[in-house]
Amino acid sequence: ARPGLERELERLHGAPYGRYRGLVGSWELAGGVVVRLVRAQADPFAPPARVAVHVPAQRAGFAPEVRDTPVRRRALAGFLVRRAAREAAGERAYRVDAGGQEVLARSSCTVAPDGAVTLRLGVALPGPRRRIDGRAARRLLCEGLEHIARRALCRTAYDDEGLRELREFVATVEDATVLRERLPELGLVGFVADGALLPRRSGADDRPAAGDGVVPFRAPEELRVTVELPNAGTVTGMGVPEGVTLIVGGGFHGKSTLLRALEAGVWDHVPGDGRERVVAHRDTVKLRAEDGRPVTRVDVHAFVGHLPNGADTADFSTANASGSTSQAASLCEAVESGARVLLIDEDTAATNLMIRDARMQALVAKEREPLTPLVDLVRSLHRDHGVSTVLVMGGSGDYLDVADRVVMMDGYRPYDVTERARGIAARPTGRRAEAESFPGVMHRRPDPAFADPGARGRTRIRVRGTDHLVLGEHEIDLRGVEQLADAPHLTGVGLALELLVRRGHLDGRRTLAEALDLLDAELGTGVGAEPGAGPNGPDGVAALLSVRDEDFAVPRRHEVAAALNRLRGLRVRR
Ligand code: ADP
Ligand code: MG
Repeated sequence: ARPGLERELERLHGAPYGRYRGLVGSWELAGGVVVRLVRAQADPFAPPARVAVHVPAQRAGFAPEVRDTPVRRRALAGFLVRRAAREAAGERAYRVDAGGQEVLARSSCTVAPDGAVTLRLGVALPGPRRRIDGRAARRLLCEGLEHIARRALCRTAYDDEGLRELREFVATVEDATVLRERLPELGLVGFVADGALLPRRSGADDRPAAGDGVVPFRAPEELRVTVELPNAGTVTGMGVPEGVTLIVGGGFHGKSTLLRALEAGVWDHVPGDGRERVVAHRDTVKLRAEDGRPVTRVDVHAFVGHLPNGADTADFSTANASGSTSQAASLCEAVESGARVLLIDEDTAATNLMIRDARMQALVAKEREPLTPLVDLVRSLHRDHGVSTVLVMGGSGDYLDVADRVVMMDGYRPYDVTERARGIAARPTGRRAEAESFPGVMHRRPDPAFADPGARGRTRIRVRGTDHLVLGEHEIDLRGVEQLADAPHLTGVGLALELLVRRGHLDGRRTLAEALDLLDAELGTGVGAEPGAGPNGPDGVAALLSVRDEDFAVPRRHEVAAALNRLRGLRVRR
């Protein structure tokens, strides 16, 4: 790192804007802090310049116990970046991706095994009339960033209360991660702690709902599980067992809210979120109907038989799926990408894929109904394939026949009504099962044909919220993919896809599942990877940074697969 950025900026005052480019590189500021201009801005209206602020380990000074494992480093980084964003808030030129309620591995802040801290942010470089404003730039890049480093990224910035909050943040994230990893040995796919606060402020605001009306979660006795966590000690809550779990209850009694909390339980949450100890198996995938989505060569014949247009449903492609075929395809794709738990809510499911009752069986002959409802396949999914399902279904009793557990939500409180449900299911309805078993999924081998090396061999990656990903020439609609936390998370999906292409993992010979295994190995997102990884274990942020320095969060294999599966013009072999 060179000294003298202040002087250099003074010297450039009034020079043409493009000369910011000459500053790309590392510069040493006071106190050993290094500012690296990664990418300058081409003009004042282009996306902000990309800057990294590096605080050496000695200066940062955080104790080993908050940074000696990969999980703790992810948590510490999550804490520091939120503080840094607060310090940066007064200055509009800074763009710090602090993240929301989830604590994800993000490029915006990382902590190295030795304790060095790096903050990565966007800085809009000042340039009135396309001339360098050297003094303003100096305030932003030198004094401003040094201030943020001093006030947020160093231990000395924190008083006793601040350090207590820091330790609580790290402990909370570590407990959630440990709890999630322990689910399989407990025979569970999910856990909702007693006292958890599940409802959110609104559909557009993920913070916890406030007020006296919020009913804290309380496990029913029959499903109460006790677990030991490294920091919180003994914790009790509702264990959601493997198998088929049905959530029933009247409208507005909190069914969807419970399912959504499980959906988000694949991520860790910040202290105060209310869902700190609500976790789901890491391979939990939310499914929904998504009419209009493309489908490429998926074997959906277990769900969809002879279609009126004569399409081969064992090798099914469409540019415009119906509600039911889209959900069938998404289910098969989820199993293909390695899902162990499926979440389905009646509110967003295709009814005709979920149920077909005795009267409808009597009226419409099986020969005229291409669909086999999930109710006839969900048991086999678990028995023969080890894939559990948690289903919200308040409107049809046919699932009582196939559920291992039935939980009733009543006034936001869960009750175990499995025994009563068994009694009711014992009375015949006259309904006949329409399938014996789920045959498994056909593994596909994706071609890299979608990759479109643009300028300098790079694929353009742009996101709009969590709903749209532009990848080169392609625009991918992910409105039906509900477990992405935020826009940078979707950027991470785009970068992961480009990494798969660059590494040659999508070569038309490897199956998608095999390619995703390789991605997991590289990102450190495989089973048990993060908690066990040593100081030199896989580092997902570093791997994706090698593709491009952007604001991103490291995604799961399931969201990467979901994006690829929704790419129009995807080519696969089987
Ligand atoms: P359902 O799916 O059973 O129809 P929802 O889960 O959509 O019900 O919840 C209905 C409303 O109740 C929502 O506005 C939700 O925020 C609120 N709600 C859910 N759980 C709780 C709770 N534990 N305490 C207070 N309000 C809740
Ligand atoms: Mg609902």
